[in-house]
Amino acid sequence: MTCLECKKELGYTDHKISMDTLGVELCAGHQKRITKLIDTHGTPREAIQLYYGLKEAGVNAMLEWWDGNKSIDIAISRVKLNIEIDTEYHMLTHEQAINDLEKAMHSFKNGFTTIRIPHVLIKYYLKETVINILGIMDGLRVHLKAI
Ligand SMILES: [Zn+2]
Repeated sequence: MTCLECKKELGYTDHKISMDTLGVELCAGHQKRITKLIDTHGTPREAIQLYYGLKEAGVNAMLEWWDGNKSIDIAISRVKLNIEIDTEYHMLTHEQAINDLEKAMHSFKNGFTTIRIPHVLIKYYLKETVINILGIMDGLRVHLKAI
């Protein structure tokens, strides 16, 4: 059991606290940093799990990336991919839906692709979600080269 950020050995308590609160293995110092991020941006815990899932797959992503208009849950700037985690999709109102569509439109205009991932997918299919994102990145890479 080591910290996913700094590879520091984790004791039983640190490990348990980290898994209980964030669902990823982080040392006390890095737990604090991520908790601050969550408090500031309302980052879903699944975004943290996906971020580290991608990191383990060798993907350089950014958490809560500011695109000039809004904070993106996870951004992979090399392929201009934005990932938003939907936590309340089951009670999506029409106002939220049109807001999401407008945000996606603005991102597209800037050359960014936005995908929305339901949080339950990360909870139950983290590995498959990461594999699919890797596939999307491959597709985007080819597309970016073509322009
Ligand atoms: Zn650490």
